[in-house]
Amino acid sequence: MLHFSKLTLETFCQHVQVSDSDCEAGGLLLGSVHGVHMLIEQATIPTILDKRFRYLFERMPFGHEAIALARWGTSQGTIRYLGEWHTHPEDTPHPSGLDRSEWNRLSVKRLDQRPMLAVIVGKKTLYIELVPCSGHGSVFFPVE
Ligand SMILES: [Zn+2]
Repeated sequence: MLHFSKLTLETFCQHVQVSDSDCEAGGLLLGSVHGVHMLIEQATIPTILDKRFRYLFERMPFGHEAIALARWGTSQGTIRYLGEWHTHPEDTPHPSGLDRSEWNRLSVKRLDQRPMLAVIVGKKTLYIELVPCSGHGSVFFPVE
C-alpha cells in the first residue's frame, strides 16, 4: 500500500497543468518505508535550474538532492528518497518512452536495490508505478 501525505498531494495539485501554457513540473518523492507499505511525506518542487517545457520536464540534480539529504539527516534516516514525480498535460497520464528509459536508469542507480516509485500527475488522475531496473513494473490503482 502506498500513502501520500496531505502536503504531497497539495504539491501535486499546485502543479497540475490546468492552463494550456503550463509547463511540466516535477521533483523527488521523499518518504518512509514500513514493510511493504510506503508513506510519501514530501515531494520536492521544481528549481530554477530544471528544464521545464509543455511536454518535457528534465530535473537537474542540484537543489532536489540537497533537500533529500537534509530530510534524511533531520529524520535520522527514516525519510529517504523513494522516487520521482512529474506532471503531464493529459487527463489520464501515461508514461512516454523517454519516461520509461529515464525511470529504468534511475532505478538501476538506487543503492538499496529497491524498485523506484514513479508518479505522473495528470489533469484528472495519477499514474503510479513501482519501476524495477529493467522493463515494466507494477502499476498502482487507487483505493479511494
Ligand atoms: Zn513524462
